[in-house]
Amino acid sequence: MQCIDAERILPVLLDGDPDVWGTRAMLSHLLTCSDCREIFANMLLVKAMGDVARSQWGRSSRPDRVEGAVERRKAQVDTAA
Ligand SMILES: [Zn+2]
Repeated sequence: MQCIDAERILPVLLDGDPDVWGTRAMLSHLLTCSDCREIFANMLLVKAMGDVARSQWGRSSRPDRVEGAVERRKAQVDTAA
């Protein structure tokens, strides 16, 4: 598997579909390719931030909205203090 193939499969793998074509090839590529590992780690982080944002504030998973929500939260804390 080449990086160009991995970049197409990463988002599907991230959604946790175990039947996706090439999952095993993808995982073995991740073991040997630090570039794709870094991309995958970043995607996992963004997904996790989105999950936290949805559970905390019920908002969309877009990172810019997550940051906005954090800033508003800080402003509320500052006002209360
Ligand atoms: Zn790669």
